[in-house]
Amino acid sequence: MDIKNYPAEPFRIKVVETVKMSTREERVKAMREAGYNTFLLNSEDVYIDLLTDSGTNAMSDKQWAGMMIGDEAYAGSKNFKHLDATVKELFGFKHMVPTHQGRGAENLLSQIAIKPGQYVPGNMYFTTTRYHQERNGGTFVDIIRDEAHDATLDVAFKGDIDLNKLQKLIDEQGADNIAYVCLAVTVNLAGGQPVSMKNMREVRELTAKHGIKVFYDATRCVENAFYIKEQEEGFADKSIKEIVQEMFSYADGCTMSGKKDCIVNIGGFLCMNDEQLFEEAKELVVVYEGMPSYGGMAGRDMEAMAIGLKESMQYEYIEHRVKQVRYLGEKLKEAGVPIVQPVGGHAVFLDARRFCPHLKQEDFPAQSLAANLFIESGVRSMERGIVSAGRDKNGNNHAPKLETVRLTIPRRVYTYRHMDLVADAVIELYKNKEQIKGLKFAYEPKQLRFFTARFEHK
Ligand SMILES: *Cc1c(COP(=O)(O)O)cnc(C)c1O
Repeated sequence: MDIKNYPAEPFRIKVVETVKMSTREERVKAMREAGYNTFLLNSEDVYIDLLTDSGTNAMSDKQWAGMMIGDEAYAGSKNFKHLDATVKELFGFKHMVPTHQGRGAENLLSQIAIKPGQYVPGNMYFTTTRYHQERNGGTFVDIIRDEAHDATLDVAFKGDIDLNKLQKLIDEQGADNIAYVCLAVTVNLAGGQPVSMKNMREVRELTAKHGIKVFYDATRCVENAFYIKEQEEGFADKSIKEIVQEMFSYADGCTMSGKKDCIVNIGGFLCMNDEQLFEEAKELVVVYEGMPSYGGMAGRDMEAMAIGLKESMQYEYIEHRVKQVRYLGEKLKEAGVPIVQPVGGHAVFLDARRFCPHLKQEDFPAQSLAANLFIESGVRSMERGIVSAGRDKNGNNHAPKLETVRLTIPRRVYTYRHMDLVADAVIELYKNKEQIKGLKFAYEPKQLRFFTARFEHK
């Protein structure tokens, strides 16, 4: 593999955190005690933590300096003004409501924009997003292009909405029965797959004809913008900021988890253009999050988020970010390890169906693969398959086509050498894949079960 294609880290490291090296014996014990759920491990026992890119970002010196100028007034904080102005400039929406993190924004939006019985079409589900939609009487409908459900297809912009699926839903249910279209940039559960600008434009045109609103899940909008610049015709000379601005020009609003592309550890917000929705969101935010001028964040959190959002738009940052993830994916691919293709913006997804052909989906192959990877290497990953998908209203397991293990790369935290180590560990485990045994539930919580479920060997 040609390392020249991968830019070196565009930063210097000036604070370090020492990690613990553990023995295999210690990890076997830790994994057993955690019920074979990587979410239940103690972070202290983890060597390289690829559980999630959520809130695990390394902040810059400027962001830390921003923490010191936190204005912790209960109302009217100057940091809110900074964040508000930054979001409005970069995203172009008229109104912003801060929340403690992305799901806080999803809660508000679902309450104010969904009437019971309405449909909420989206490009593949996300766990907390769908939960809030359904809790408010909505029915999620997956309208992502078919290719997204096939891990082996290496096509660009696999996150695109299938316009025929959207048209069919409108024809069958009527525009009035559609709350809004939820368009995620990028699509986390499809493997971090981006959406093309062309698709966003077309979704806008189709929905405008029927008076249907479009809200983006903007969580990884900057990573999505990088793909557009790199791979979509006509965008090579545009800045990341210009691309982000155009993306949001085709939306009525968005929910944002600051814990991803805002390069902070906590925070989120909801945006919209509609005055009425803004009024309703402000009324609800007081109940669930805090004043409309802090939404569950400290002043210093808002300052760090405003600075982080600007830093995320720097080309050198986002190029390194996406390419570092790609580096890990390419290494695994070269060694013949089955991964979801193409490699997405924030993570490499191992294809557990092909990794563990000896296991059925009911044996939770991805869950067991994640547990075994930790035992063998101290690398923590997470299941994104049948366990994450949960049960439907009738109590049956959703059985998603994608049964994956996500190796999620935190922003600005690890080096290429760490990626080498992860790749070696996964390749070694792939050679010994028969040792990965099936699991069953020892404890299954009712909602969002992947977070706290416990397992035992079948
Ligand atoms: C993380 C995430 C969310 C929820 O955000 P939180 O900040 O974790 O509440 C929503 N959508 C996507 C795609 C995410 O990855």
